[in-house]
Amino acid sequence: MPYVYTCAQCRTSSAPSSRAQAHAERTGHRERVHGGLTPAGEQITHHANDVKRLALLVLGFFAFLGASWLYAHMH
Ligand SMILES: [Zn+2]
Repeated sequence: MPYVYTCAQCRTSSAPSSRAQAHAERTGHRERVHGGLTPAGEQITHHANDVKRLALLVLGFFAFLGASWLYAHMH
């Protein structure tokens, strides 16, 4: 699962990477850009889009099966 570090002050986001990498990115960004201070609004987000897409795909598949079954039994 990719993690992304986002700094609201700089309006920047790191490339999706591991959790440890995102935390290292946060530490490095604070040091490099904010002089070791914590910028307001920074966050590490967990991107689970792939999982959501897969869940939708599975849901859609079963919806299709259900619709096919209904259609076949109505005639
Ligand atoms: Zn920043």
